[in-house]
Amino acid sequence: GKMGRTFIVGGNWKMNGDRKTIDEIIKFLKADDIPTDNEVVVGVPALYLDYVQQRKPKNVEVAAQNCYKADKGAFTGEISPSMLKDLGINWVILGHSERRKVFGESDELVAEKTALALEKGLKVILCLGETLEEREAGKTNEVVFRQIKAVVDKIKDWKNVVIAYEPVWAIGTGKTATPEQAQEVHDALRKWIAENIGKDVAETIRIQYGGSVTATNAKELAAQNDIDGFLVGGASLKPEFMDIISANK
Ligand code: PGA
Repeated sequence: GKMGRTFIVGGNWKMNGDRKTIDEIIKFLKADDIPTDNEVVVGVPALYLDYVQQRKPKNVEVAAQNCYKADKGAFTGEISPSMLKDLGINWVILGHSERRKVFGESDELVAEKTALALEKGLKVILCLGETLEEREAGKTNEVVFRQIKAVVDKIKDWKNVVIAYEPVWAIGTGKTATPEQAQEVHDALRKWIAENIGKDVAETIRIQYGGSVTATNAKELAAQNDIDGFLVGGASLKPEFMDIISANK
């Protein structure tokens, strides 16, 4: 069973939208009922964090898509965990595969960012996942274990961490992992966590699946034992996001 883990769906808008399209997203977020026992977080471009924070429905939380490993100083162009907290933002997405690949973020940097974000009181959606090449080489588990291990070395308390397993080959490609493929990795991660962090953390930590989630495939994925929600890119910009939010119902 899911041991009472609260289903949590994140939207990752990436570098999309303007005030006009954001108004439309907020309209559909407000229009449909969100199950009271589900959690919803939208990952907003930094420039619009405050705009969304001022307009969002109460039962939706706002996440930044990144923040830095230092909290202030000479880091031109970066934003810090304390700045997010100052705007009332409680969440940040860290280690997304686009950050890792396009912006060269290492496991080490992602772990340092996670540690500071938690220390400053943010909740973190920590993204992990293998490339197609790594999967085909049979290295999926090795890669996601290495990515999470870097964080294990830097933090002690996991209660404000949600893991997003996002196979890189499934992101923005329309190629969703099958429910069996996703469940297999989620199960492996939970077992690794039980052995390397603790049984209690393994039982309570939420593991989202991400990668071409749609209203059509969400229900079958949500039915898997170790899938506790989703991190949704493209479909989070559209009204079908509302169906994904309640895919466990
Ligand atoms: P996608 O993106 O849903 O568009 O595949 C997921 C993500 O990058 O988090």
